[in-house]
Amino acid sequence: MLAEGGSETLEVCEALVDSYEVWIKETGKRLRTLDLSAARAEQAKTHLEICRTAARRMRGGIATLRGDADLMMAFQLANATMARQQDWKNLRKPEEQRRTLVWRPFQLGFVLLSAASSVAPDHEDRGIMDLIWFPTGGGKTEAYLLLTAFTIFARRLKRGSEGEGVSTIMRYTLRLLTLQQFERAAAMICAANLEWAERGFDTTRTPISLGLWLGESTTPNRRGDAAKLLDGANLKDVGRPDRLIKCPACDESLDWHSAGDGVEVTCGTDGCEVGEAGPLPIYTNDDDVYDERPSLVIGTADKFAQVARNEKTAALFGAGAYDPPDLIVQDELHLISGSLGTLSGLYETAIDILATRDGHPPKVIGSTATIRSAASQVRALFARRTMQFPPPGIDAGDSAFAVVEKDPKKRGRLYVGASTIGHSKPEMLQAVCGSLLQSASVLDGSERDAAWTLLGYFNSLKELGGSVSLLQVIAPETMRRLAAYRDEPIRPVDTQIEITSRIGSEQIGETLAKLERRHDAVGAIDVALATNMISVGVDVGRLGLMVVDGQPKGVSEYIQATSRVGRDRTDGLVIGLFTAYRPRDRSRFETHATWHSALYRDVEATSVTPFAPRARSRALHAPFVAIAAHRHPELWQAPGRAEGFRLELESIIDEIVLRLGNLGEQEACEAADTREELMKFLDSWCRRDGLSTWWSDKGDASLLMSMEQAVQRRAAGRASRQPKPTPNTLRGVEATVRIDLEGK
Ligand SMILES: [Zn+2]
Repeated sequence: MLAEGGSETLEVCEALVDSYEVWIKETGKRLRTLDLSAARAEQAKTHLEICRTAARRMRGGIATLRGDADLMMAFQLANATMARQQDWKNLRKPEEQRRTLVWRPFQLGFVLLSAASSVAPDHEDRGIMDLIWFPTGGGKTEAYLLLTAFTIFARRLKRGSEGEGVSTIMRYTLRLLTLQQFERAAAMICAANLEWAERGFDTTRTPISLGLWLGESTTPNRRGDAAKLLDGANLKDVGRPDRLIKCPACDESLDWHSAGDGVEVTCGTDGCEVGEAGPLPIYTNDDDVYDERPSLVIGTADKFAQVARNEKTAALFGAGAYDPPDLIVQDELHLISGSLGTLSGLYETAIDILATRDGHPPKVIGSTATIRSAASQVRALFARRTMQFPPPGIDAGDSAFAVVEKDPKKRGRLYVGASTIGHSKPEMLQAVCGSLLQSASVLDGSERDAAWTLLGYFNSLKELGGSVSLLQVIAPETMRRLAAYRDEPIRPVDTQIEITSRIGSEQIGETLAKLERRHDAVGAIDVALATNMISVGVDVGRLGLMVVDGQPKGVSEYIQATSRVGRDRTDGLVIGLFTAYRPRDRSRFETHATWHSALYRDVEATSVTPFAPRARSRALHAPFVAIAAHRHPELWQAPGRAEGFRLELESIIDEIVLRLGNLGEQEACEAADTREELMKFLDSWCRRDGLSTWWSDKGDASLLMSMEQAVQRRAAGRASRQPKPTPNTLRGVEATVRIDLEGK
């Protein structure tokens, strides 16, 4: 209905906010009846005030749509886009599983909250990071995609050709998740492109498109390499370009091929609306991403180290005739921690400043599983205030948008603990798995499907390895005995797969597709053994059964991992095996029910310290040189000309230090040292003689050099201290070096 437009669209949205406001009023009334200490009552009032702010902002979103025909049109197109790709998904499902697009209140609420500030650079809430905190499986991705589609359409309708170019950047931390989200985004983008063309908006303009921006081991950096790979060449250490296997519309295999000096992907199915519109607007090598400036760019966070190295990355920030991106989506914020978080925070300085135009920064939204200290994490990374959505209200079990289910019959995900008391761990594992596998075969219908594929979670590859033969050899014996006892046919178990870092990037999509196979399909998976690789992003709606062998190290990891089952409308059963002699396992087993009832309470806080002395000595210069070169592109070719830009470069230092003041108290204390170090670096840069290249891993004539190369040179005694070691990726603060040992 939201796709059809007119006053009805906004009435639906108004009704949502109306009922939220009623909830706020009633919660306020209830608060007055509670007997709380002064401090707690004060806190509760603050929470309710935040709820009112959220309601006000949603109202503001609706008013903006009502008052602006272009934005209203963009909202309708975005909804039509999402409905269209839902229709495509329905085509490949059996009749009873098809459903029309229905927004959950939290999804629509979040989009209304963020919509106005996502498309208006000067909006008062532009500088607030809107952070989704919602249980995994709740539909965050659809909310992001709706807001992304809205932003893409709104830019084009309001600003014409300047609104083309990269409109949204989505960042993930893990390869697996990035590739899976890329598939979902591809369906949205193809649908958006058709909507745009069919409504007859000046179709001579560039198509709405999607780019995938990843490390070279996952997708090619160069267009020529992509073409060669598709022509059958075998390039060492270069990932394949054909990252989307099936057509989003007709579900048939896509045809990736070299064309001219580049690559192209087409769908050859008769009557397929995506195929008939020409090559798909999808780009998976860096050269194409830089040249085509896709409307939506999906990348991993660590790739952003390239902004200090590659001048073509300017394309991501609206260089030329385009506006910079309006929206940056940072998913799974809690994973931006440790060294990745620290370096990300430093580089974010460059990204934020480069994507700022006329004093207006991009809108940042995201999600987190760790609400503890999220506000300080967001400040340290993005120099922004946070608004958590939905705000918590006064009761952890009811935020109006999410209510904890109290009816035990509607269980969602059931956690069961099994202790190894009196048994060995392998014995327990095979008995539990054998029993689950055999029992699944006597269930009916959807229950049978949900229980068919047993997902095994292990803490390490080593533990997983030890269990493979156990499940293949001993578990069937248990099954045989159970079947005989219960007088059932024995279930054959012969398809077992692994989801670990040992599978290559090119197998990820295939592995996920296998997991989607229903129990009655050919090649349905019986057992999938996994490590923490599955914890983020595996979103296979039919999975319902999991065995957790040993407790993961962190609580957030436990929540994430076990959230892989019982998503969507399938109930989930998680069986934890607790080793009796390990104190933590035993404690968790003994307090199983209470501990699980308050899982989120124990989630570990994450911290990032991008401007701490150690981080500064590694990479403080990187965001500075990145901004310098993007603002004064001649420096890429002739870094020796820095002195000529001295004043401009000093003012960049001012901007960096100014932004530091918004990062938090800790960072503000580092401001003076930061300025001093940057000035020192600038002095040495300007004084360098014979500086001829920007970045080179050979010789001494370059401004920068990769950290790994610098360490190796030092190790080999060839240390000339001239080129500044600079991270090539944001994965590690410390450089690593390979050591070969020779026996005497
Ligand atoms: Zn097709």
